[in-house]
Amino acid sequence: MSTSKPLEVTIIGGGVIGVQMAIGLLNRPNIPAILYGQGTARGRQGSGMAFTSNAMENMRQLNPDILKALDKAANPPRAAVYMTNQHPDFFQRRTHEGELPYDFAIRNKAGCDVLRPLPRDQFTAELDKLIPADKFSMRLEKIEAREDGKRVLTFQNGTTAEIDAVLACDRIRSPTRRMFLDKTDPAAIPHDTRQREYRNHISWEKVLEILGDAANNLIINVGPGGYVITYPFTNPEGKFLGIGAVMQDAEEWKKLNLKDTTDREGVVKYFSGWEPGVQKLIAALPEAVDFWIIFDSTRHPLKLYAFGPVCVAGDAAHVSPPFLGVGACLGIEDVLTLATVFVE
Ligand SMILES: Cc1cc2nc3c(=O)[nH]c(=O)nc-3n(C[C@H](O)[C@H](O)[C@H](O)COP(=O)(O)OP(=O)(O)OC[C@H]3O[C@@H](n4cnc5c(N)ncnc54)[C@H](O)[C@@H]3O)c2cc1C
Repeated sequence: MSTSKPLEVTIIGGGVIGVQMAIGLLNRPNIPAILYGQGTARGRQGSGMAFTSNAMENMRQLNPDILKALDKAANPPRAAVYMTNQHPDFFQRRTHEGELPYDFAIRNKAGCDVLRPLPRDQFTAELDKLIPADKFSMRLEKIEAREDGKRVLTFQNGTTAEIDAVLACDRIRSPTRRMFLDKTDPAAIPHDTRQREYRNHISWEKVLEILGDAANNLIINVGPGGYVITYPFTNPEGKFLGIGAVMQDAEEWKKLNLKDTTDREGVVKYFSGWEPGVQKLIAALPEAVDFWIIFDSTRHPLKLYAFGPVCVAGDAAHVSPPFLGVGACLGIEDVLTLATVFVE
């Protein structure tokens, strides 16, 4: 019988990916894991998100409890995503009277659901329940190599930890990734796509007046310079229509914050040439609208995702715009792959 100590995995970052890795390793008892997060798992609170059927299957393989958490938080799956063309030359010729206002639909030929929308904060609250809370409130400051080859983590509160392997899921501007790359390497930081996603929700009574029953569908309206995603969701406060309106910005984002708030008026103006229904939805948003700066790493991808025993995953490894909800779905693939490799 081997007496050697099993490999311990240290996870940095309690966002939607780090937490799922930790829960996935709970299901693989021969791989002990410890999760250090600087906050709780709540990430970008309040916004909605959607997962593909592939991502849901990956969650099941990581740990079926993740899917149970998703079921508690999520809304019914969507068998189709409807798209509309918002170019005025096109939509003004549309004649779908009495039909769903879409131009084509994305369906999964295997009969699986295409996307499952849910309120992000409810899902992460359910995930939080699956892991001990005492592993949070630790901000990683640095990773050093000791003379004996061991790596040591130092946290903001002065504590240190010796590690076997680190999996850093520490966000778009991953401090871990920056520790290992030269400042001049363009892959060290994510790049602004100059897309801004304006997000909020409106009450169901208002939505029915504007869209009628068609609002029950997940619709992506694509037009000049942007797209507007609408999806119904329910939470303990009632039923709402979630809206994500993506616009192009002429200016590069130079500030450090990843999210900000602006007046609705600019957004209303931007979509003024779109279909009347879309314009009415935008006009029904609250006066102050939150927006997210959209980054991506496709122009400057990392050449390697591991630096000795330190590996990055989730947004720390690759960021993508939120069209059709790929960001976290890709991160779940990362951690399922790593959990499988660690066991092997
Ligand atoms: C508007 C918007 C909508 C989106 N919608 C979707 C969608 O519908 N579907 C989808 O799949 N994806 C979507 N995404 C992408 C998705 O949000 C990300 O891919 C996902 O949150 C990445 O998870 P993560 O755990 O890697 O990073 P995060 O969720 O950002 O979490 C990182 C965690 O690391 C912690 N951390 C950072 N630095 C340190 C440190 N030094 N020490 C300790 N902890 C640290 C942070 O506090 C945070 O909790 C969307 C993104 C945006 C902006």
